[in-house]
Amino acid sequence: MDYENDPGWQFLRPSREQIIQDQSRPYDSKKNCWVPDEEEGYLAAEIKSTQGDTITVITGKMNEKTLKKDLIQEMNPPKFEKTEDMANLTFLNDASVLHNLRARYSSMLIYTYSGLFCVVINPYKRLPIYSETVARMYIGKRRNEMPPHLFAVSDEAYRNMLQDHENQSMLITGESGAGKTENTKKVIAYFASVGASQAEAAEALAAKKAGGAAATPAGKRVTLEDQIVRTNPVLEAFGNARTVRNNNSSRFGKFIRIMFNKFGKVASCDIEHYLLEKSRVIRQAPGERCYHIFYQMHSGFIPDLKQKLGLDKPAKEYYFMAQAELTVDGMDDKEEHGITEESFDVLLFSPEEKLDCYRIIGAIMHMGIMKFKQRPREEQAETDGTEEHQKAADCFGVDMENFVRSFVKPRVRVGNEWVNKGQNLEQVNWAVGAIAKALYARVFHWIVQKCNVTLDQKGLSRDYFIGVLDIAGFEIFDFNSFEQLWINFVNEKLQQFFNHHMFVLEQEEYKREGIEWTFIDFGLDLAACIELIEKPLGIISMLDEECIVPKATDLTLAQKLNEQHLGKHPNFQKPPPPKGKQAEAHFAMKHYAGLVRYNCMKWLEKNKDPLNDTLVAVLKASPGNNLLNLVWQDYQTQEEAAEAQKAGTDQGAKKKGKSGSFLTVSMVYRESLNKLMTMLNATHPHFIRCIIPNEKKTSGLLDAALVLNQLTCNGVLEGIRICRKGFPNRTLHADFRQRYAILCAVESKSSDDPKKCSQNMLNRLLKEAILTEENFRMGDTKVFFKAGVLAKLEDFRDEKL
Ligand code: ADP
Ligand code: MG
Repeated sequence: MDYENDPGWQFLRPSREQIIQDQSRPYDSKKNCWVPDEEEGYLAAEIKSTQGDTITVITGKMNEKTLKKDLIQEMNPPKFEKTEDMANLTFLNDASVLHNLRARYSSMLIYTYSGLFCVVINPYKRLPIYSETVARMYIGKRRNEMPPHLFAVSDEAYRNMLQDHENQSMLITGESGAGKTENTKKVIAYFASVGASQAEAAEALAAKKAGGAAATPAGKRVTLEDQIVRTNPVLEAFGNARTVRNNNSSRFGKFIRIMFNKFGKVASCDIEHYLLEKSRVIRQAPGERCYHIFYQMHSGFIPDLKQKLGLDKPAKEYYFMAQAELTVDGMDDKEEHGITEESFDVLLFSPEEKLDCYRIIGAIMHMGIMKFKQRPREEQAETDGTEEHQKAADCFGVDMENFVRSFVKPRVRVGNEWVNKGQNLEQVNWAVGAIAKALYARVFHWIVQKCNVTLDQKGLSRDYFIGVLDIAGFEIFDFNSFEQLWINFVNEKLQQFFNHHMFVLEQEEYKREGIEWTFIDFGLDLAACIELIEKPLGIISMLDEECIVPKATDLTLAQKLNEQHLGKHPNFQKPPPPKGKQAEAHFAMKHYAGLVRYNCMKWLEKNKDPLNDTLVAVLKASPGNNLLNLVWQDYQTQEEAAEAQKAGTDQGAKKKGKSGSFLTVSMVYRESLNKLMTMLNATHPHFIRCIIPNEKKTSGLLDAALVLNQLTCNGVLEGIRICRKGFPNRTLHADFRQRYAILCAVESKSSDDPKKCSQNMLNRLLKEAILTEENFRMGDTKVFFKAGVLAKLEDFRDEKL
């Protein structure tokens, strides 16, 4: 194939001229180096003089600088300019990693390998590298045959699955706006299109061999592959929103499993979702929006929708969706609603289901502007006009009086009796918000489940799967709460999974090559922090415990956590005083990615997530909205529980924790995290690290500090440090003999066996003190080198040439 002429190729590999130019810069390993710089991260510099442990350099900007010797980092020879796999660098250090990514990014080469990771920097512009023709270039290719690409990783996963008969996973992580979701979409599309066509060929071949006819591919009807791709617009309409960082930010995590038959044909698919940000349904920060669907419904794409739902006010008057922005640059909500609708249809949502769903979202909008007031001198709220109450009740298909009463006078159980308990204004407003959030989360869950039902097609056998995880990376904000604790905990687990995997692979290679080496399991590095969070008496179980203690508050929780762990657990620390815009914190935790200051306010409420039970009962029994019955199906109201208990048929037992209390949010999260980890542990993983280059959503601009921080948080730099403890550079015996023959001519011809030759050559280099025993290991097929050693050999080689 004529790769060079593809419009995408220039974004995959530099031209020959470019490579020659890149590699022609003068270089002297004893002089060229990197020095730290506030703005650029690191600056190229030349060593002028050394005095004790200080060093004087001249930077590219012609500035003289004197600094401590151990602050400078070695520079790689020019032949590594824009290298495709940073694990090959002879000097593995932070400066070289940053330089390499920056150099590649300046040519819009956005994918780069770093050992087991594939790193991608958000290009912030559409590059022609995801076309059908580019996809085809990668089919069946080994990783080192082609430039780095997401498709290379995807194809590797696909081939591994079929060859090793093993399930695969692709873990796509990064900060918000780094490109996780864009890359996830491309992976899914790759499997859906390329995977399908490849499998068809394989199947046809198998059928031919068996003497039968190949199954005719389905005609023009909607295919499963289409449906898989179509889940995305639906999930994005309901789960994505404009944030300060990302105009289309996913506010939930997801794990998509594509199931294949043994020929590699797509057989089915399912989606699991995690940690939906519920608070956005009722509250938006400056510069942000509520979920896209709210604005789509207001766009007029369905002409009579607003009228049907009683939405007769302009969008800006519906408080729950109008606290900050109403539009997104470059996004047409009307057009987007068209896409949502089309996708709903492809996924077999019926007209009634769609309408019921819109009615619930409409009701949420009405609820946001229902007015209540407090009776004078009484702790009792009452309605203040009922127009919106009526409209919300209509959308829900319930009786308005009942609906309102459950807000202002819910039935609660006091001992063995049921009483109507008056609520004050604050309590009512709180209940409105809580039910809006819960409803939205339940509708979202229903949408995912409905997609799953459609994607669960019978027929083909499901022999393997490839799972794609799109989930937020470590979050270290000025204010870190319950949500950050959970996302950071998930990341801690994923990082441990990565480290452990790397350790296992490395170990296996050393063993295969017969090298003696006690490798450390770097997965264990994370064990202490994980224990602090998840073990009995760990942070989460103490939080759960505090949720059932009478009179407990967020502050008693904070106090107990400190009593239990401060000074006793190495990862639990007193929070350093707030800097800049940082909020007060109750404790700090040393995560893999850094120290995070946590504030415990609202943790009990967020974990208990209480709802107005009477109101739920009213909605659950709605005679006029079937979807409403469905989404509350698994919720057992107190009254139902009491009745079930009386009748001795406690069906709700499953929903309850061991102590008989209801499940906390943490318990639900923990179960789904455990399920995810169990699943991932049974797969061969592939890791994609997405990087946001700047906070201006601008193409080509790379903020060094921002990027370095991400490289720390996502484990790329740590991975490199771990690599350095082993023998990261390796060459085949024959290659070694050929390249370094010039250093020991006699030994290089000493045998026909490249291994023996290499051994003799290495002995000679040892004798000449060019190498030490610690510098290398002799394997069965390769020589393994410590980082930096090959550069030394290259220097000697250059001198001889
Ligand atoms: P994340 O899911 O990590 O928060 P997204 O995948 O939503 O981030 O990416 C944010 C925005 O960045 C996208 O809406 C898109 O404009 C841009 N973007 C990200 N990756 C790419 C890419 N590979 N090509 C073009 N644009 C991209
Ligand atoms: Mg996303």
